Formats: sequence, structure tokens, C-alpha cells
Amino acid sequence: MQSTDLDTFPCSLPPGRQSHTMLALIRQVVTRLEQWHEDAPQRLPLPRSIPLPPVAPAPWGLDAARLMEDLEPVVRGSYNPWHPGAMAHLDPPPNPASVAGELVCAWLNNNMLAEELSPLLSRLERRLLGWIAQRLGLGDDAGGVMASGGTICTITALVTARHQRGLDGQQACLYASADCHNSLAKALRVMGLPAAALRLAPTDASGRLDPHRLDEALEKETEPILAVVATAGTTVRGAVDPIGPMGDICRRRGLWLHVDGAIGAVCGLGGQRHQERVAHMDRADSLTMNPQKWLGIAKTSAMVLLRQPQALADAFAAPLAYMEPARVAHGGDCGLQGTRPAEVLKLWLGLRHLGQHGIEELLDGALQRARTLRHALAPLPLIMPSGDLHIVCFRPRTAGSSEAWSRHTRQLLLDQGLMLSRPRYRGERYLKAVLGNPFTGVEQIAAVADAVSASLFR
Ligand SMILES: *Cc1c(COP(=O)(O)O)cnc(C)c1O
Repeated sequence: MQSTDLDTFPCSLPPGRQSHTMLALIRQVVTRLEQWHEDAPQRLPLPRSIPLPPVAPAPWGLDAARLMEDLEPVVRGSYNPWHPGAMAHLDPPPNPASVAGELVCAWLNNNMLAEELSPLLSRLERRLLGWIAQRLGLGDDAGGVMASGGTICTITALVTARHQRGLDGQQACLYASADCHNSLAKALRVMGLPAAALRLAPTDASGRLDPHRLDEALEKETEPILAVVATAGTTVRGAVDPIGPMGDICRRRGLWLHVDGAIGAVCGLGGQRHQERVAHMDRADSLTMNPQKWLGIAKTSAMVLLRQPQALADAFAAPLAYMEPARVAHGGDCGLQGTRPAEVLKLWLGLRHLGQHGIEELLDGALQRARTLRHALAPLPLIMPSGDLHIVCFRPRTAGSSEAWSRHTRQLLLDQGLMLSRPRYRGERYLKAVLGNPFTGVEQIAAVADAVSASLFR
């Protein structure tokens, strides 16, 4: 039998040096990872210094020991999601099974471009996304495709919507809430539409799009409308737009409804209590969901789901002459990306690892931590916009510079290993905590409240 010994893989160690590179390195990385992991709570969420390792390849290849030396500063200089104080963004510690899935995915090195290069994994992606789409109520024919992040998924959905509505190459506009994500602006740019084609409908006091104002604006619109976007979880405060009423309006007016559920759509995988937070997602024609955020599947893990997934190939398929024809549309026919890793593997393994109870525990834990933080901050003189998910943002009630206060307080918190972010929202700076890190405990939450309190009563 022909050997494909990993240690005979081409590399150019100095003459006389033995290779043992691949297998030894993989073993050493796994062993070392245990140690890095054990030390993670001692490394700040955001490292103070970030010295780069050498960049260019050395004249001779490096053996496993030297490669491990290269990796050390990378770990020390990286953002550390495992620290219990890491609560700045939607980047929680990764699900361990998804990390293992990522390693196997890299070793398999299949390509989702075409069936023959990913015979099982392409089917697995269609099957799993079909299951998720059905779970969200998008219907028996529903399904979709994974893509590298929510932005690309939303661009994919909107290009598809435009094609379905026969608006390719024409002036058209898009409606969304004033708090929508910047990926919509990017989508318009990709589609060659002016920035003004994004029509922002006002939100109410809870940060949710006001459907009556939307309806009024749609009534007066003179340009063709390529889609209406409901955000299921806004990035700064986690508000969920009224998807049901927006769906009614879209149905009555014959419009395409896209749900940007990058943050919140995963609630549709939880029990009824969680589903109610993002109710009526079943009204979507297309939907973006990012399991890389709240569910902590290793990045990237994002998908676009459609009620009629063949619309993807209608919009994107271009002859793939160098591949064997397939029974169904190739992965490369269903979106912007050509070659694409089998990201479904880590998602599938991660969900199998969590189980239905694990998903609910993860969602519940984050919601509970958010309640605890809101409760701890409630006595303080803060403006704290409401939200529907696991995100808490706030700023001082007193007039004064929220810019200076937020910068100072973020640093105060960082010095204690507590990382919050500092979004700009309606002309002011806020501090924002995302409570998706399952290792964040009451201790860290109390420390945040104490530091914020100290910042206000200096
Ligand atoms: C994060 C986010 C996106 C974009 O997702 P990426 O994976 O960062 O591209 C889109 N919409 C909302 C509401 C988000 O929070």
C-alpha cells in the first residue's frame, strides 16, 4: 500500500534534521492548547502588548518545536474570548466540539464549491440548513447556504431578492430600521445602488421599527422596493423588530421580507420561550443567522436561509464548466463564494454536542446574566436603553461628555480584566456588555457595576 505518512509531507528542514513535523506538531498543539486554555483566565481579554512573531518564511523549514515557538506570541497577543471578563462583543468562547470540527474540516480539506469535492459535506449542509429553516417555520421546501459571515449572507439574500423581483440593473430601494446593521449599506454598494437607496424607518422607544411609520413611508415610495429588512436583534441594544406586523405589511404590498437575525435568529432553535423573543420569523422570504455569535460556534458560522432556496441558484449560478454536473445546484452556484470550507461540519458537531437542552441552557444563561447586570446597574443614574436579548448598554444620565466618560470607564474596566465595548448610538457613546460568555459570573457582573458606579461618583 502506498504510504501517505504525515512525516513525509514535503518540507525543507536543514540537512540532517529529521522531519516528524506534521503529526508531531498536531499532537504538540493539542497538548499545548490544554495549557494555554488553563492559563486563559490569567491572560487579559485584550492583551496590553502584541509583539508580532517573524513574518516571512525562514530559508529552511522549521520543525515542530520551532513552530510551537512561533505560536506562543500569537496566543499571548490575541483577543482572549475565554476570559470571564470578555463581554465586549458578539464573540464568545467557541464551542469545544466546533473547535474539534474545525480541525477535522481542515484536514479533510473538502471544497463546498462542487459536489465531487465535498460529496457528503455538501449534502450535510443542505440537510442541516433545511432542518434549521423548517424549525424556524420557513416551510418544507426551505433551505439555504452557509457563507463566511452575516454580512455576506445578507448581501447574498438581497441580491437574490432583487433578482426574484425582476429589478436587476434598475434603481431600487431597501427599507430597514434606523438601527439596522451596516451590512445593508455594504449590500447596496455591491449592488451598485446609491447610499440613499437605504430608507431608514424610525424606531419606537424600545428600539424596534415602528410598523405604522414603515407602512406610511412605503405608501409614499415612488421607486421599486427590493426588500424590507426586519432586524431580529440590533447590534447596540438587541432590539427585535416586530416581524409579524412587518410580514403583514409585506404580504399586503407584495414585498420581500428579509430578516437580519445575525444575533437573534438562534432563539428560534430554543424552546417556545426563546422562539417568542423572535416571533414570526416564519414570515421571512430570506433570513440571516449567525451561530458564530450567541451559540459560540467557531468562526465563521453563518447562513442565509430561504423559503425557496432554488432562488439562490437563479440569482448566482454561472457555468461551472470544470466540474462534474450534479443532481442539484453546486454550492458554488448558490452564492458569492466559490471555494468555501465545509463550515457546516463544526456547526453540525457543535449542535450535536449542545443538544436541545444545551442550546436552551446557553440562551437562558446569557439572558439571566443580562438581567443580573441590568439589575445591578438599575440604582445608578444611567440611561439604559431596553433590549430583547442578552445585550446591555448604558451611559450617564447627567449631561457631559459621554465620549470622555466612556473612554475613561472602559479603561478602568480593562485594567480589571473586564472588556466592554463603546458603541456610538444616536450621537452619544455608550458602554455595552454582551452577556454571551458562559464563564462570566456574578463576580464579574458585580465588578462591572462597581466600576461604573465609581466612574459616576468620582
Ligand atoms: C454581526 C451582525 C451582522 C454581520 O455579521 P458578520 O458575521 O459580522 O458579517 C449583521 N447584522 C447584525 C444585526 C449583526 O449584529
